[in-house]
Amino acid sequence: MNDQIQYHEHLIPLTREQLLDKLHAALSDSRFAHVKRVEKVAMKMAKRFGTDVEAASIAGLCHDYAKQRPDKDFIAVIKVKKLDPELLNYGNAIWHGVVGAEMVKDELGVQSEDILDAIRQHTVGGTYMTKLAQIIYMADYIEPARDFEGVDRARKLCKHDLGAAVAYQTKHTLEYLIDNNQPVYPQTLTTYNAWVPQYRKDL
Ligand code: GDP
Ligand code: FE
Ligand code: FE
Repeated sequence: MNDQIQYHEHLIPLTREQLLDKLHAALSDSRFAHVKRVEKVAMKMAKRFGTDVEAASIAGLCHDYAKQRPDKDFIAVIKVKKLDPELLNYGNAIWHGVVGAEMVKDELGVQSEDILDAIRQHTVGGTYMTKLAQIIYMADYIEPARDFEGVDRARKLCKHDLGAAVAYQTKHTLEYLIDNNQPVYPQTLTTYNAWVPQYRKDL
């Protein structure tokens, strides 16, 4: 079913089949399977919440495109494109989305800033997130292979309250990072402040 979507909107200069070939070459089999699951969930959520299904397919498939790139590739892009130097204090977990979006733009030809922003924000969120960005953030978190305490609650929120779902994930990710003495990227904290107090009654 899912395989039947054909791209018409010129959001990417590739057919879905050509995009799948490029992703297969860039990713391990398990990561490739993950992005296809995220695509499927994202398309379903796009239909549910009334946003562009083709954009959801492309963003879902491309969100982890850069996940397996060596650190030096990200460092080069941060320098050449003069991205926030604060990024250099972090690593792959932050880079593959925030910096990876630049690789999706340059290497896969995606020009849609809506899709690129969804990729940029898929790990760390943002103060302002489009419906597409919220969907990719959540689809990545709840795709069927995810199994952690709270995933059922997150899946339930994704059915009826997208904003509360974003707040839920943001809170739990921050809790996890703190429990594990991990560094918190400033935007992750900003996302917490923008979403969690606002939705506290629904969590
Ligand atoms: P994945 O790429 O499909 O595995 O999922 P994500 O892109 O959402 O997450 C990648 C990793 O980044 C996860 O392990 C998150 O816990 C982690 N992460 C999210 N926010 C932060 C942050 O602010 N700092 C750090 N160090 N890690 C984070
Ligand atoms: Fe990711
Ligand atoms: Fe992912």
